[in-house]
Parts: sequence; structure tokens; C-alpha cells
Amino acid sequence: MSMIKDIELDHFMNGVIRRNPGETEFHQAVQEVAVDIIPHIRHNETVKKMRILERMTEPDRIVSFRVIWEDDKGNIRVNRGYRVQQNNAIGPYKGGIRFHPTVTQSVLKFLAFEQVFKNSLTGLPLGGGKGGSDFNPKGKSDREIMRFCQAFMTELSKYIGPNTDVPAGDIGVGGREVGYMFGQYKRLIDRFEGVLTGKGVEFGGSKIRPEATGYGVVYMMQAMLKQKSQEMAGKVCAVSGSGNVAQYCVEKLLELGAKVVSMSDSGGTIYKETGISKDDLLWIMNLKNVRGGRISEAEAGIGAEYLEGKRPWQIECELAFPCATQNEIEADDAKSLIKKGCKAISEGANMPSTPAAIEIFREGKIVHAPSKAANAGGVAVSGLEMSQNSLRMSWSREDVDNHLRNIMADIHDQCVANGTNSNGDVDYFKGANIAGFEKVSRAMLAYGAI
Ligand code: NDP
Repeated sequence: MSMIKDIELDHFMNGVIRRNPGETEFHQAVQEVAVDIIPHIRHNETVKKMRILERMTEPDRIVSFRVIWEDDKGNIRVNRGYRVQQNNAIGPYKGGIRFHPTVTQSVLKFLAFEQVFKNSLTGLPLGGGKGGSDFNPKGKSDREIMRFCQAFMTELSKYIGPNTDVPAGDIGVGGREVGYMFGQYKRLIDRFEGVLTGKGVEFGGSKIRPEATGYGVVYMMQAMLKQKSQEMAGKVCAVSGSGNVAQYCVEKLLELGAKVVSMSDSGGTIYKETGISKDDLLWIMNLKNVRGGRISEAEAGIGAEYLEGKRPWQIECELAFPCATQNEIEADDAKSLIKKGCKAISEGANMPSTPAAIEIFREGKIVHAPSKAANAGGVAVSGLEMSQNSLRMSWSREDVDNHLRNIMADIHDQCVANGTNSNGDVDYFKGANIAGFEKVSRAMLAYGAI
């Protein structure tokens, strides 16, 4: 990212802001891409004339719908559902579904936009989309979750299909929710087809899909360390979040001999100076996946220190893995991480660093993999799940894990090939943006003005 004022970039961003008023998360995600793509296409008259970047910022379509469900007390509840179908130039729309009270059209548009580049980087034929609802799953009974998922899918089923749009999980949507939604789709459409990924292995799910995003985040870090002739073993790691991505990120880090000193949730952070053990992780998985508890309970449960209302970025670490949510690393957090010895970051959550934080990391020469590259392992294995469903086959854990490792290594290499600066440093943001853009852009050019 150049600090020199870029008139073309300003003009482009003004247009995006004017056309999408108030959608700050979406503006942020587009800006993060445009800073690299506008200079990249500056002398490419064809791409500019065909308005490829402008077209990529305009979703193919957005559907928004009412979701009506009944809670356990017999009250009728009203939520809003969405599906943003961003771009299908290189394959069917693909991207997760998020259930969280902070879900808005802006949040889903930022996620869908990022997803287009991420899916392109995987090398698989996947377009980009995202969906969700402002439904809050916290504190809901299993029956309420089921009724909500069924009501949501009753409407969503009209817009998706194995060759049109294939949703998956995200925040608040895991295996249980995917199971309820897939069941409802199957009941409505009366066909058994791979319309969702992240399914149970008994009904078409891929092995390693639950682990894929977290494992991939670590494989990306491993590749970045290797580039600097370093290893993961012994490294002190700060991880945020305690959901799906964080859990399997920690599992893989422990397997590779790293020392993980933190995890968190929206209430606060746990810090264990001696390192979270495999047994501690199992305890946390049980707390979060079975009991639905808060991370504060780990103070008594595994003997960790609980830092109420705090994020893990004040802790001494060499490597950081933000795996909770967007904008969880702000400028002060970035400064603190550098001060505490952090040398590299692999983003598990989508867009976890604010623009100011990214700039601070860049100035501090921190090795920093953006989410669109680092967390692409999840959607990559979802792509492999689609292939297995089409082939009516189920591959072994080893097969899927090998594919995942190769895909992450390839994403790393694409970042190096497209993001190496003249001084030899790799700008992983630039590399991921350019590599992701190129493939989609070429397909869009081939189709003409549509
Ligand atoms: P989960 O719902 O399993 O876990 C989310 C975790 O993040 C929880 O610990 C949650 O804490 C915390 N969190 C959520 N919102 C906030 C917030 N506003 N402030 C602080 N903490 C918060 O989701 P995932 O692990 O699936 O997703 C985590 C991130 O990874 C998201 O950014 C998602 O988009 C991204 N991602 C996920 C993929 C996947 O395959 N699941 C694929 C690629 C990216 P609490 O329990 O208190 O809410």
C-alpha cells in the first residue's frame, strides 16, 4: 500500500461510498483490495475500460427476507435473512452463513466481497457469496435453533442449489445448524444433493471440514516461517476466539510443538503462561461445543488467568492468530503486539485488522497474512466436499489433509509471486489481492459486458 495520495483510488472509493451509503464494513473491505488493484491495473486499458473492479464491487444480487419462527414459550419471533450472491464468474456462489445479532447487509457484503478473492486463491472453481441473519443463537434451546434453521431455509431454498449457490457455516453456524438446514432443504426439494457444505460425514460431509479453517491458518503461518527459515516448534502464540476456527488452530499449533498462551470470547481472554495443554483444549471444546459456557469458566476449569473485557493483544507472544471476528485488532492493539514481541500474524477471522492496524504492522515489518489467504482452507475443503458429493465418494482424512496442505502452500506461493517488493519483502496483502483478482478478472473479460 502506497502512502502517496492516489487520485484514481480516491475517485474509485468515493463512488463506492456514494453507491453504498453507511455500509462501513463493505467500504473497508473494498478499500483493502482497491489500494493494491488500482495501481496494478493503472496501465491495463482493457480491464479499466471494461470496468472490471467496479463490476466486482456490485453484487450480482442480494436477497433479503423475513424469517418467522416460534420460540419455546409460543411467542412469534421476527428476524431478517439475507443471501449476497456477489460474483459467479469462476464457479457457483460459495460462502458461509452467519447467525449473529451484529449481522447487517454491510457485514454480509464485506464478507461476500472478500470471499470472491479467497475462493479464487484456492484454485478451485468457486464463486463468492455470503448469507446470514441477525438471529442470536446464544441462550436458545436446541428446538428453537431447529425451528429457526427450518424457517430460514424455507425461504433460502428458492435461491440456492448445488450448481448455483452452495452455503456453509460461519459464526453461529456449525455442524448442528448445517444439519437442520440441509434436512429442511432435502424435505422441500425432495432431492439428496450437495447444496450445503460442512455437513455431517454420515450425509455427505467431508472429513477434516470442521478442522480445515483452523488447520489452514496454521499451515499458512508455517509456510511464512519457512520462507524466513524458521520453525513453528517452541513459538509462543496468542490466539483469539474459542469457536470453530480458534479451536482447530490451537489443536494444530499444539501438534506442531508451539506454545499457545491465550484464547478468548466476546466476554474476555484467558491467559496461561505455561501454555494451554491438549487436555485444556479438550476441556475448552467441551465447554464451548457441548455446554455452551463462557471462557471465564476456564479460570477454575484449567487454571488460567481470566482477563475480563480484554483481547489477547496485550500478551507477550511471537505469533498472533486472530480467530474471533472483524476489526478485533485496532491500532492500539497492533502497537501493543509489536511491543510485546510479535513477529508474524495469520488471520483466521475475516478482516480482523482495522486499516490503521494493517498500516502499523506494515511499518513494523510484521509478516502478515490477510484472511482472504490465511483462512481459505475452510472454503477449500468445502470445495472438496462438493467434488466428493458430485463423485458420490468420500475421501480419507489423509487425502483431504494432503489436499488442504497443498492448497495452502499454493496460496502462499501465489502471494509471494505477486506480492514480493523490490527489497525482497513479501507483502502478503498485495500478493493475495492481485492473485485473487487476476483469475476472476480474466473470466469476466472472456464473458464480455454482462
Ligand atoms: P464461531 O461461532 O464458532 O466462534 C466465534 C468466536 O468468536 C467465539 O469465540 C465468539 O465469542 C467470538 N466472537 C464472535 N463475535 C465476537 C465479537 N463481536 N467480539 C469478540 N468475540 C467475538 O465462529 P467461527 O470460529 O466459525 O468463526 C470465527 C471467524 O472465522 C469469523 O470471522 C468467521 O467469518 C471466520 N471464518 C470462519 C470459517 C469457518 O469455516 N467456520 C471460514 C473462514 C473464516 P462468543 O462465543 O462470546 O460470541
